[in-house]
Amino acid sequence: MNQDLEAKLKACSTLPSPPKVASALIQLAHDPEAAIQDVAEILQMDPALSIKILRVANSPLYANRRNVETLAQATLIIGLNGILALALSFSLVKSFRGEKMNGLNYPRYWQRALIGASISRAIGQASSLASLEELFTAALMQDIGMLALDRVLPKFYKNPKFDQTYHHHVIAYEQEHLGTTHAAIGGWLLANWKLPERLQLAVSASDDPERVPCSDDRSQFIRCVALSGMIAELYLTHAKEQQVVDVSEKGKDWLGLTPETFTEILTKLKGLVSQSEEVFDCKIQDNLSAESLLETAKEALLIRNMQAFKQVETLKHNTVILESRYHNLEESSRLDSLTGAYNRSYLDDVIETAFESASVNATPLSFLFVDLDHFKKVNDTYGHQHGDNILKAVAKILKAQTRNTDIVGRYGGEEFFIVMPGVNGAMAEMVCNRVNAAFRLHTHNVGPHQSLTVTVSLGIATLEDGQLFDSAHEMIGAADQALYASKSQGRDRWTAYKTLPTSSQRHSHSIP
Ligand code: GH3
Ligand code: MG
Ligand code: MG
Repeated sequence: MNQDLEAKLKACSTLPSPPKVASALIQLAHDPEAAIQDVAEILQMDPALSIKILRVANSPLYANRRNVETLAQATLIIGLNGILALALSFSLVKSFRGEKMNGLNYPRYWQRALIGASISRAIGQASSLASLEELFTAALMQDIGMLALDRVLPKFYKNPKFDQTYHHHVIAYEQEHLGTTHAAIGGWLLANWKLPERLQLAVSASDDPERVPCSDDRSQFIRCVALSGMIAELYLTHAKEQQVVDVSEKGKDWLGLTPETFTEILTKLKGLVSQSEEVFDCKIQDNLSAESLLETAKEALLIRNMQAFKQVETLKHNTVILESRYHNLEESSRLDSLTGAYNRSYLDDVIETAFESASVNATPLSFLFVDLDHFKKVNDTYGHQHGDNILKAVAKILKAQTRNTDIVGRYGGEEFFIVMPGVNGAMAEMVCNRVNAAFRLHTHNVGPHQSLTVTVSLGIATLEDGQLFDSAHEMIGAADQALYASKSQGRDRWTAYKTLPTSSQRHSHSIP
């Protein structure tokens, strides 16, 4: 604030000054020894004040079961500081409301002050603020600088360019003509009256609470006051959706209020203003306006929020689809395109992993080599196409005869390989019996009225107690040798590597 203006304010004999009662209360507020008895004594100067405070204490703002009949009881409920703040508000309103204004739209001024003060309570509650009465006082006085300016510079607000409808117009007008705003002047005034520092600061920062850094422990209080003024403005200007959204955003940035909480605060507006109307004996609102603001807010904030919620849901849904597609893609990249069994490259991975795991954990593991018998003849007789169909059927039969935890893969050509973690030799033999039996029973269609049966030969290698291999590669070789034994012994059968006679004979498969 410039010094010239400050000098004028200081010299002004008609500057609003707190009434006697308020001055006494302010002094008391600075006294740490103050007791309810002292407050009661001061309030005796204005009996109507005590009645008002008792009314507040009995109002729905404080959910009491018992009737509050004395100031001492009210102090228990509202607290000494709360009573001081309330008494101060009442006495200030009372003393200033009767005064004549110069250029200021007086009813408009008080509407804004009282609506702001009323809603500050809900904002404070939502922000878990302890001193709601003090917040009420600060919100009530946030524009008191306008009263001061109207006194000191009687023509100032009489200018036809001045428009009190929108608060940002007021601020811009003051800034343009004075280089300062009523917020700074209000803060100065409260300092002069020796009101608590927190109130001074909240009033002087009411036009721009971001000036006070969030790290300041008073910042929440200050932001609650500023937001109360903005909500009062929404109410008084019959705000459109975008303005409601803007103020809600401020509530979020300043105090972390969600759109739901912000809407809840607006839901309380009507009731809170009614309370203020009652205790201040005045008519501030028309019911329609509070309700239409709430409707606008619900539409702008909650529906918008639902849309945001839906967008998130859609996004999640799409992610799930993408993930499953990726999973399918991965799955399909592991599969052999003709038979749907796992392909060789995946099989190689699984063989290595399963061997490592079984070796480390000392759990059994069986490998099966499966080879179609005389398949070349089948192809030659019925054609490659039918051969392909038979290969598809083979994969199906092998899957059907094994467990879900077993991996059935196409090793190459008409050779399949099955990895069976946790399966010992005896169990592997049972699986082979089942597989041989299933192939014997299955007939493949290879043309009109033509069908045939294809048999398979199998070789088993099992990693278990007393049967160890140095590598997966060695174990695959063992299964291959067992398969060769099955072929050489007549096909349509299985052979376990461990039953092969000696190591020299084990390699006999290379002999035609
Ligand atoms: P054995 O009982 O000794 O195994 O006799 P085989 O005829 O099954 O064995 P061989 O290795 O001589 O022939 C394998 C045949 O498998 C050759 C080829 O025609 C057939 N084959 C390999 N891959 C495919 C394929 O993808 N589709 C078709 N239709 N046939 C295939
Ligand atoms: Mg074959
Ligand atoms: Mg073969």
